[in-house]
Amino acid sequence: SDHDLVYPISPAYMDWATYYPAYAEPEVADSIESTTSQTQDISLKAVETQDGSDGNGATSSEAIPMKAKDMRKLKQDVEVADIGCGFGGLLVALAPKLPNTLMLGMEIRTQVTEYVHERINALRLQNSKEGLYQNAACLRANSMKFLPNFFKKDQLSKIFLCFPDPHFKARKHKARIVSTTLNSEYAYAVRPGGIVYTITDVEDLHLWMVEHFEKHPSFARVSEEEQEADECVEVMRMETEEGQKVTRNNGQKFVALFRRLEDPPW
Ligand code: SAM
Repeated sequence: SDHDLVYPISPAYMDWATYYPAYAEPEVADSIESTTSQTQDISLKAVETQDGSDGNGATSSEAIPMKAKDMRKLKQDVEVADIGCGFGGLLVALAPKLPNTLMLGMEIRTQVTEYVHERINALRLQNSKEGLYQNAACLRANSMKFLPNFFKKDQLSKIFLCFPDPHFKARKHKARIVSTTLNSEYAYAVRPGGIVYTITDVEDLHLWMVEHFEKHPSFARVSEEEQEADECVEVMRMETEEGQKVTRNNGQKFVALFRRLEDPPW
C-alpha cells in the first residue's frame, strides 16, 4: 500500500500546538516567524511505497507549504515517546499517571493512528473538568526514518518500545526497530539518565534487543530491582493491547530497560 507521511524539516518546525492545545502558548512563535518568510515550506511530505509489512520501502520527499506564522509554541516539550504505539493502551494508562509530562505515540498505520486520536479526544472531553489526557497525543510516522525530524537532542526522558513487530526471518531483521543505527538515533533523542523501555513476548527478539543496547556505548541495562520498582513497567506489562493479548494466551513477557549514559568528555 502507499503511504503519505508528513514530517517537519526539523523539530523547530513541528506544529505541536495542534496536538497539545492545552499546552500552547497564546501568542505566535517569534523565533520561527523572524527566521522564515510566511510562505516558506516548513514540512516535508514523504511519499512512501512499501513492499509489504516491513516499513522499509522506497521513499521520495516533496515539500508541502505550511504557514510558519500560524504556529504556536508549546509551554513545554514532549518528553515521552511510545514508538509503534498501536491502539494507544500505554498512552492512555500513562497520561493520568504522569499528568505534567507530554507524551507522544508514533504509529505507522493510518487507521490505527486515527483511532488513537479519537480515543484521546473522547477521553479529553469526558475528563475536561480535571483537564486529564491533554498531555497525550498520537501522530502518524515511520519512526525508523524520521525520528530526528521530530525530536531535538536530549529532548526525551523515556522511549517505549512495546511489543515491536518481531520480523522473525533473518533477512527481515533489518526491519526491526532495534538496531545499532536506530539505537544511535534513540541515544540522540534521549537525554543522559533517560530510559528506553522494551517488552516483547518473543524471546529471540528480547535477546536481540538486549544484545544491541548492551553493546551500544550510550546505553547500559537497568538492574532488575530498579526495573521492577519503576511504575511504567507494570503499565507496559498490563495496559498495552499486546500485553493484554499475551496475558490471555498465558504467554511470557520479557522486559528490559536501558539507561542513556552520559556522553564521554570530548
Ligand atoms: N505497542 C503496541 C502494544 O504494545 O500494544 C502495539 C504493538 S504492535 C505488535 C506493533 C506496532 O508498531 C503496530 O501497530 C505497527 O503498525 C507499528 N509499527 C511498525 N513499524 C513501525 C514504524 N516504523 N513506525 C511506527 N510504527 C510502526
